Amino acid sequence: MQKVIKLQSVELTHKKQLELSDARIEAKRIINKFILPNIDSCEDNGQLQQKVYNDIRKESYLPSQVLLNLIRSSFHLKQKSAETRNIDRITLDYNIPRACKMFMLDDKKLCFAITVKPRHRIVIPIESNGSVIRFQKQIDNGWKMKQIGLTNRNEIIATIEKKKVRKNYKNILGIDTNSNNVSVTALTPQGKIMKQLYLGKNLYDRKAKILKRKAILQSHADKGSSKAQEKLRKLSRKVRNINKNAVGEISKQIHEIAEKYEARIVFERLHKFEANKSKAFNRKVTLIPFHMLTMTTAIRSVDTGVPMGYVDSYHTSKWCSGCGSVNPPHDSSNYAIYRCGNCGLVVNSDRKASLAVAVKKFAERKEYFQFSAKRVPVNALFRGDESNVIQATENAVSLSDPKEASCL
Ligand SMILES: [Zn+2]
Repeated sequence: MQKVIKLQSVELTHKKQLELSDARIEAKRIINKFILPNIDSCEDNGQLQQKVYNDIRKESYLPSQVLLNLIRSSFHLKQKSAETRNIDRITLDYNIPRACKMFMLDDKKLCFAITVKPRHRIVIPIESNGSVIRFQKQIDNGWKMKQIGLTNRNEIIATIEKKKVRKNYKNILGIDTNSNNVSVTALTPQGKIMKQLYLGKNLYDRKAKILKRKAILQSHADKGSSKAQEKLRKLSRKVRNINKNAVGEISKQIHEIAEKYEARIVFERLHKFEANKSKAFNRKVTLIPFHMLTMTTAIRSVDTGVPMGYVDSYHTSKWCSGCGSVNPPHDSSNYAIYRCGNCGLVVNSDRKASLAVAVKKFAERKEYFQFSAKRVPVNALFRGDESNVIQATENAVSLSDPKEASCL
């Protein structure tokens, strides 16, 4: 995966500015003379390169790698009409380490030495600011410099990359989204709960306040107050922003936990919510936009490499992790509690549901839990027509006591 960070150069000397400006003029000349006249007859930039590179090489003093990058980065101009092909703001790209070297001065100042022409380098010192700190943090975390781009204002666009170390992800992070938080459980194939915690707790409080205000404004708006209507519009924008930020944050935390415990991320499938159409339920569920959360988490997976999947939500909130029997998801006297009528287990219902999601995924994958004194049947987690899924298994898991697990 790759990231891009913009770095500010310090005010350069007049001589350096001239040399960089010359390089830019030369690059534009190349584009005008060789690239633009040929771009429309080429299908891709490989073809363009084949057609023009040798001719360019014969007459341009720019380093070969810079020229190759120039051909590649100019190819997108093909999509624009001839009149709108503006090349004033092109960046010159220098690959590391051949055309550009990164180093530190004694005073910890970050510098790039770029090869503007063969055997001639220009040193560009970077302004020490927040971007540099962020940049160096990434380098310390194992990111490697790949390329820098020099903009027309002599800013540095640094491209860094990190090669993924393929992990095993033998554990599972079960996720249960509830009306007021997201509960997660990291479970090993041996049935040991490594971590249980809640995410997005403060989101509930913030949104509860807003919903209250919304109800008051709505009653004013219903009576015809235009001021209240305007405020309502602002409020829904605010809610959208809160959602977006909260989902981004929760999804990031999910990935961090999954990474740390080498666990694949498992959500329940949506129809739990579709199936339950009661008004109160839907109002609660929208407190955490489930679809947005799974989407954001899935997109993040592409970058982090943590696998993500789903299980059917059938009985995940009803299944008892103590004995495998089925009970109401919430205790009648306390909504937050799950109470088993069979074995007497009393646990937090959300934590237990996220544990059930993880257990169910292991059961589906038929990877479980060989050694244990206490085995819990999993049949109740599957619908009758899915019995073939579990027949090949021993129909039971061994679990460590969920009450022992650490919880924030
Ligand atoms: Zn039980």
